[in-house]
Amino acid sequence: MDEIQILKRRLERERNARKQAEAILEQKALELFHANEQLRKLNEDLEQKVEERTTQLTHSEEKYRGIIESMELGLMEVDLNQNIVKAYDWFCDMTGYNPGELEGKNAADVFLNAEGIAFMKKQDEIRQKGQAGVYEIQIKKKNGDLIWVLISGAPVFDFKGDVVGSIGIHYDITVRKKMLHELARAKKTAEAARDAEKQFLARMSHEIRTPLNAIIGMSHLLSETATSLEQIDYVSSIKTSADLLLKIVSDILDISKIEAGEIQVNSEPFNLRALVMSLQKTFQVKAEENGVKVLMNVDDKITNLVIGDELLLTQILMNLMSNAVKFTAEGSVKINVQLLEKRDEKYFLEIDVTDTGVGIGKEKLDLIFENFKQADDQVRHKFGGTGLGLAITKKFVELQDGKIWVESELGQGTSFKFTITYLDSGKEEVIEIEKDEQALQSVFEPSEEQVLIVEDNYMNRKYITTLMKKWQVNFEVAVNGKEAWEKTQQNIYDLIFMDISMPEMDGHQVTKLIRSEENPNQNIPIIALTASAIISKREQALNSGMTDYLPKPFNPNQLIDLIKKYTKREILSEKTTISKMETDDDTKTEILNRPYLEKFYGGDDSHAADMFDIFLNHTVHEVPQLRPLMEAQDWEGTRQLAHKIKPNFSMVGLTQLEEKMLNIENSAAQNENVNTLLSKLVEVENILEKAIPILEKELERMTRIT
Ligand code: ADP
Repeated sequence: MDEIQILKRRLERERNARKQAEAILEQKALELFHANEQLRKLNEDLEQKVEERTTQLTHSEEKYRGIIESMELGLMEVDLNQNIVKAYDWFCDMTGYNPGELEGKNAADVFLNAEGIAFMKKQDEIRQKGQAGVYEIQIKKKNGDLIWVLISGAPVFDFKGDVVGSIGIHYDITVRKKMLHELARAKKTAEAARDAEKQFLARMSHEIRTPLNAIIGMSHLLSETATSLEQIDYVSSIKTSADLLLKIVSDILDISKIEAGEIQVNSEPFNLRALVMSLQKTFQVKAEENGVKVLMNVDDKITNLVIGDELLLTQILMNLMSNAVKFTAEGSVKINVQLLEKRDEKYFLEIDVTDTGVGIGKEKLDLIFENFKQADDQVRHKFGGTGLGLAITKKFVELQDGKIWVESELGQGTSFKFTITYLDSGKEEVIEIEKDEQALQSVFEPSEEQVLIVEDNYMNRKYITTLMKKWQVNFEVAVNGKEAWEKTQQNIYDLIFMDISMPEMDGHQVTKLIRSEENPNQNIPIIALTASAIISKREQALNSGMTDYLPKPFNPNQLIDLIKKYTKREILSEKTTISKMETDDDTKTEILNRPYLEKFYGGDDSHAADMFDIFLNHTVHEVPQLRPLMEAQDWEGTRQLAHKIKPNFSMVGLTQLEEKMLNIENSAAQNENVNTLLSKLVEVENILEKAIPILEKELERMTRIT
């Protein structure tokens, strides 16, 4: 019984245990079911998300491809060997292929020539390093035509990040390239045309001026021999027309030089007050004929020399002043220089030229600064002129960053005003009107520097050496090229002034020898001295090895500047003094250019007296030597002698004779007719004859004072 009981209980226990196990199993099965369910759901979500992302990606890829294609950018993908993986529609259109036709083909073989292949190889190397790049290349279309494309290439990576190829965006730039090419060609043509125009203008100026000078000279001679009033009238018309024509030619040349950007603005110290004073004196002579006064005023606050372009200012003021005098029958003409502001070592100036003349109508005020514009036809009729003067003046002002304008009332007068800024040189301007003090006396401290002066013209030599002595500069002289060459082999100089035009061996030849051969002066500065007005001569001088260039006639300041520049001389004092000149009667003033003399000698009468003396004793006798040369038709001899005499005239203030001598020099260079040249010489001799007593009187005055 006990045993049965025991078995029963065990059975009971086992049943219970199985039931528990079944319950647990059931529980686990349920949990498994739930987990499974969750997993399935997750999977479904994931699939949906992947699907959504894929659709999004496809859309965006389509969108961007669409954009690129609609921007007419051709897409092409290649593998590492340049085999085409995919060529998109626009690329196919661009190259003339059908879609699908290109895939699998080698892009380099299909599209490039040998040069392109070499270039592309470099691009591939860059791409394989994983870098993008943009470049231009020419590719071949299916029909053989070549087009230019701008390619933006980028590497293509696989999922591991390795480069597997590249994709390029191609933009057809053939039209743009063509335009650029045409633009470059047009630019070249325009430049060639401009060069031709420049050459034409230079030639025209020379060709027209030379015969015009002859017409002016001849009409002058004719007027002296004209016997009837009618003849005098005709000759006078010829002369007036020729003068006008000469002015037009000069103005046109000025305008074209400005427009070709050939006018350079120089920056040198100059005495503004002295310039205004000399202009006032010059115009006073002409204005006095009508009883018109010429007045001037320069602001007292301008105490120093200013730095700027003296020549341009002179031209501006000359234009404005000659108009003012021309259009004023009574009253006055005034130049007024006013200091608006002094700041940063600069003088900000307003300069006006004001007259009490005919005035300009309101409706014309805006026009007069334009090329060829005059206030009205009546004006042209009565006063002549080209209508270019103010256009040139305006351009000169603007070249120096200034502004010009006009204020005027009909019948009341006119005021031309302009602004201009000059640097303050820091050096005081000294104008001593009443004292006849010698200028430029102790400019330099005595020193050991040695200067060589090579000059075959006696008067020029004397002019330079007198200054050198005054400044205590040591110098030696060579009177021709050969002597200069010998001297430079024996001595060492610090600076050489070299005349260009000399018989046997000219300045260019000597310089070339000094520069090229064994010579102790091989590297020292050589300054060319030449009376030639042609700018290209400067280049010629520099090309033959010269360091700088000094055009004749030059004034002492220009010479000092060069000595200072090329030697290490210390300046003791520098003065530009203007001495009081006696006022002569009109005829004398016409022959003798006093403002010029004042500028040239800076009031140094003793130096001027030396030059006048040499002129009267030497140069005057050289002029007739031209006659036998002309008669023998020795044109080169004539040209050389005229060239040599030419600068001596301006040294004694006979500037118009210098021009006439230039004319003879040019005519001889062109082997002109003997009679023409002889008549030019007669003209020079006639004027010289009148000038001699004036020069003698002037010399007497100067020696009396000094
Ligand atoms: P032009 O060489 O003919 O004088 P400008 O350009 O110098 O030419 O001057 C143009 C015009 O402006 C002149 O013809 C004249 O009508 C007018 N004009 C210039 N300056 C004055 C002035 N000071 N008074 C009156 N009119 C003037």
